[in-house]
Amino acid sequence: MARGIYQRDPIIRETRRQAQLARWRNPVMREKMLTALLSHPPRRWNKGMKMDILKYPNWGLRGKHHPGQPGCRKGSKASIETREKLRKSHQGNRHYNWRGGKTSLPKRIRRLQEYNRWRVSILQRDNNRCVNCGNQNRLHVDHKISLGTLIEQFLAAHNYFDPHLNKEELVKAAYNWKPFWDIANGRTLCPRCHRDR
Ligand SMILES: [Zn+2]
Repeated sequence: MARGIYQRDPIIRETRRQAQLARWRNPVMREKMLTALLSHPPRRWNKGMKMDILKYPNWGLRGKHHPGQPGCRKGSKASIETREKLRKSHQGNRHYNWRGGKTSLPKRIRRLQEYNRWRVSILQRDNNRCVNCGNQNRLHVDHKISLGTLIEQFLAAHNYFDPHLNKEELVKAAYNWKPFWDIANGRTLCPRCHRDR
């Protein structure tokens, strides 16, 4: 066979695959091929690997040259619209790892984009130093009024929502509740000063 990179007609490829499968199904040919396989030393990468070609007829057929096989879309990029659709179709209860929306409200609030903005703006205001001792490593952003207290106040102000049944509404409301995002309520502390505060 000639060496080099060349494209093979998918029909010819399929014909060859079927022919090879037929050889494996033929008991005489199978015996011969197995003897040939066993007489060859195995390649280092699949040393000791036994693959039943009848059980896995598509074994080894991977990547973009094998339409419909695993990895057939390798190297191709979906359009922005398609990516947006894929994102939407894997969100929430459509995600394989969805556990029924059991993340607690405090965790949901800490994961909001607004929470990260709040945190980063405090670090910037305090020049990325512990306000107590000036340490610059592994900084925490401390709530002067604790987040738990804030959430209690927040729930009291939104008592027409049930904390369990209306969690999504509460998360949306938290985004617009000013006391959570008050920069004056935060300060930068190092882990030691945070622990001993
Ligand atoms: Zn400190």
